[in-house]
Amino acid sequence: METKIIDGALISTQIKDELKEQVLVLQDQGIYPGLAVVLVGENSASKVYVGNKKKACEHVGIKSFSYELPEETSEESLLELIETLNADENVHGILVQLPLPRHMDEQKVIATIAPYKDVDGFHVANTGALLVGAPGFVSCTPAGIMELLKRYDVALTGKKCVVVGRSNIVGKPISLLLLRENATVTMCHSKTKNLQEEIKQADVLVVAVGVAKMVTGDMLKEGCVVIDVGMNRDENGKLCGDVDFASCEGIASLMTPVPRGVGPMTIAMLMHNCVQAAMRKEK
Ligand code: NDP
Repeated sequence: METKIIDGALISTQIKDELKEQVLVLQDQGIYPGLAVVLVGENSASKVYVGNKKKACEHVGIKSFSYELPEETSEESLLELIETLNADENVHGILVQLPLPRHMDEQKVIATIAPYKDVDGFHVANTGALLVGAPGFVSCTPAGIMELLKRYDVALTGKKCVVVGRSNIVGKPISLLLLRENATVTMCHSKTKNLQEEIKQADVLVVAVGVAKMVTGDMLKEGCVVIDVGMNRDENGKLCGDVDFASCEGIASLMTPVPRGVGPMTIAMLMHNCVQAAMRKEK
């Protein structure tokens, strides 16, 4: 079977170009979308992520307000900054880059962000909205996966979807989104028995674990769709996913590569959420 490769980088650029048009319309109405990006400490991976997010803002025409705070910043002063940003009308979205230094309580910090500015979709008001099907911000990686499935015409109704990984930022929300599209969803994790048997059943497989190349071609059902969220380094230090791409080629019908798969979609959906935040009329 020929495996079609999902081009996440291309779709991400298309989405950002579409958003650029929407930003121009907003600017005509006197609305200048703004995103506050808060980084605490010196985590080098976080610095790269934040840099990429700011670059995406430039592409789309969103103003980014950057706050780089030293590692030793107190939780109290971070919460004060968030309160100030909550009240700032020029700031439509607030992103606090995770992880935070150990002396800070991440849940408390996220809970301080006004839900209507929580463009990461991590606030319980937004995760709860997703659970009950109410409007709210959906976290960016799962939203990006759904957008890829939609743009590649993957039908989900009645399909058997298997999600490996149950984190709050990927595994749980993607399971809910697939369920919303009438798929039959199985959630797997480190305590799942017979993981291979579960994976073999999948018409659509989403893997968000963080273990390099743990899913191999022999585990798959012929013709399945494979979404690889993982971002790992292989034995040669090369970026790779949770899925062993080479052994799955020829078995899956459609699959994401790493890099240029899910990763760029996360940022595109962050931009999408910022534009949505700027469009909100009521506060
Ligand atoms: P977490 O570490 O929060 O969660 C990992 C999940 O995988 C847990 O639910 C864990 O189970 C499960 N797990 C671990 N080992 C196994 C195993 N051997 N078999 C089955 N399940 C297992 O990770 P994240 O969800 O934050 O991230 C997952 C991966 O996706 C990482 O590589 C990360 O870098 C990447 N990522 C990529 C993004 C992107 O934009 N492309 C965005 C976010 C993440 P349990 O709950 O039982 O411990």
